[in-house]
Amino acid sequence: MSKDSKTYKDFGKKVYIRTFGCQMNKLDSELSIGSLVREGYTFVEDEKAADIILLNTCSVRNKAEHKVYSQLGSLRNQKEKNPDLILGVLGCMAQNEGEKIFRRMPHVNLICGTREFSRLPTLLEEINGSNKQILAINEDEMVSFDRLVTQRPNRFKAFVSIMRGCDNYCSYCIVPYVRGREFSRPVGDIINEVKSLTDDGCKEITLLGQNVNSYGKGLNGNITLANLLKKLNSIEGIERIRFVTSHPRDMIKDILEAISELPKVCENLHMPAQSGSDRILEKMRRQYTSTHYRELVEMAKSLVPDITIASDFIVGFPGETEDDFEDTVSLMRDVRYQNCFIFKYSPRTGTAATELKDDVPEETKRRRNQILLDLQSDISAEDNKEMIGKSVEVLVEGTSKTDESKLTGRTRQNQIVVFSLPEGRSQEGWPSSLQGKLVNINIVDSTDLTLFGIIN
Ligand code: SF4
Repeated sequence: MSKDSKTYKDFGKKVYIRTFGCQMNKLDSELSIGSLVREGYTFVEDEKAADIILLNTCSVRNKAEHKVYSQLGSLRNQKEKNPDLILGVLGCMAQNEGEKIFRRMPHVNLICGTREFSRLPTLLEEINGSNKQILAINEDEMVSFDRLVTQRPNRFKAFVSIMRGCDNYCSYCIVPYVRGREFSRPVGDIINEVKSLTDDGCKEITLLGQNVNSYGKGLNGNITLANLLKKLNSIEGIERIRFVTSHPRDMIKDILEAISELPKVCENLHMPAQSGSDRILEKMRRQYTSTHYRELVEMAKSLVPDITIASDFIVGFPGETEDDFEDTVSLMRDVRYQNCFIFKYSPRTGTAATELKDDVPEETKRRRNQILLDLQSDISAEDNKEMIGKSVEVLVEGTSKTDESKLTGRTRQNQIVVFSLPEGRSQEGWPSSLQGKLVNINIVDSTDLTLFGIIN
């Protein structure tokens, strides 16, 4: 590029990012927006106003990839009308599909894999004006955790990545292939990031990793998730600390004790069971039994009596019989989860489970899926009803999506609460003055998904 030629950042080019998939992807998008804004780009929320459209993608199911291909197909027209428009595919699907994306969608300019996010500004700069295609899916790159703390969707809450990748190789899962081997981020970097977030008004952090329970593996010294929680608990300004996702195989008493003893660590666990049948757990290569899982839940509930637990389940895994499924139903009944994500199994190319015959008929998968959804909804409705008459602490996040005169937030146990002022109370400063504050709410009504209350 000549010395006086203008770069994208000089022009403040507008970038739009659409995110598919999990929290990890949302955080990657947030970090990418931060790094691009730092370089002078402007982030826009309207795709039509953008000079650069980036799709941050998910590969967990074939369906997720089809969705991205269909989005790319529908962007073809926009690219034809505006040949300067830059189209990029980022993340898991970029890593997994690689060059195939260029073959199917020749109007795409950039394929940027999971370990190349930190090079995004440089890669876009390289495409600048040339309309060339760049494939960046180097598996040896180290992932950068750098962030611009002021660039995040909610001022009071933030995700903080503490590790990347996964070493577990569950038989149905593509994540270890697209995200790479597990590695933990140094404690000092995490502490510095959390301190910067609190300086910027953040009250709640959620530590993110595919398997946060094994945090510290490969780092020098006695570094564990429990130790990290202790260090973060002493940072002034932070009110709440959460962490996801907890693999049952690596759940140990120390972590549950940290939840019990550290005042800022919230009483909520996301610990996916996936199935209640030992036979299926073994085929899934989950490395625990249903008995062990139940013992962990028991230990969690005895150390932290008000803990809530969330889970993921897969129904219709190859070879799942009615008896196997009944084991899952009984696990769900006994644990009484706060909420569950339930998926119908579909083979994922590249994973070990594709060698197993996908022999559960679609109709059976649908039926089992519905049974679990209904059961979870009944449990949540019953447990939420029990909350009526109680007072809960809520971190206020903003106005309710369905009624702007009301506010919404979450309890420490991750329940969603929508609340209003008592009748006759002055409206002055309401609701904006409460955003980001911890308030006590009296619960007066509930559904399976939401608690409704009045501020104390
Ligand atoms: S723990 Fe299993 S399901 Fe979770 S990301 Fe790793 S391989 Fe996938």
